[in-house]
Amino acid sequence: MSTRTIQMTDTLYNYYRNVAYREPDIMRMLREETETMPMARMQISPEQGQFLAMLVALTGAKKILEVGTFTGYSSLWMASSLPEDGKITACDVNEEWTNVARRYWKEAGLAEKIDLQLAPAVETLDALLEDGCAGSYDMAFIDADKTNYDAYYERALLLLRKGGLIAVDNCLWGGDVADPDNEEPSTLALRALNKKIHQDERVTQHLLPLGDGVMLAHKR
Ligand code: CA
Repeated sequence: MSTRTIQMTDTLYNYYRNVAYREPDIMRMLREETETMPMARMQISPEQGQFLAMLVALTGAKKILEVGTFTGYSSLWMASSLPEDGKITACDVNEEWTNVARRYWKEAGLAEKIDLQLAPAVETLDALLEDGCAGSYDMAFIDADKTNYDAYYERALLLLRKGGLIAVDNCLWGGDVADPDNEEPSTLALRALNKKIHQDERVTQHLLPLGDGVMLAHKR
């Protein structure tokens, strides 16, 4: 026994997947369809999906921001936990991916809860701020181009109410963030953001080693 986070062997991970979450059929179908696509690795894992859905339920979030929608798996999970009057503003630039998302949102009966904004997310977030939406969101999930993560984080923090929660995906970046010789732009961006959030007095934080690492930042 150790006080550090457990190492996931394949055997343990297979066991974990059998008891860690309950993935509804519609989520499984979307995940399996996405797995046939070239950019499949951009999809979050089912354990992350269920964790996000649980965060929505636990925080009672009604208004959610998603930066990076891809084929809609994370938004489908979050929307499934939203109350009747809940809404997700989903940001993405890719029509092909989000057409898959729209199909599944509709099939799940959740399409009306998700407002897709097909534009560079910085533009969408700036427009929301200009429209007076600062302080109005309960939760944000950031999972898009890593070099813009800092821009997304700063804008999400403004859009969030006090007590709102930001979740940022890929903060362990396959381990590359811990390799000082790795100076890829995405790695540098993630390393800088991890350090910044760790020291950011505007939030309390926790980097959860779930999936590829989910940074949680709770706005003070
Ligand atoms: Ca991701």
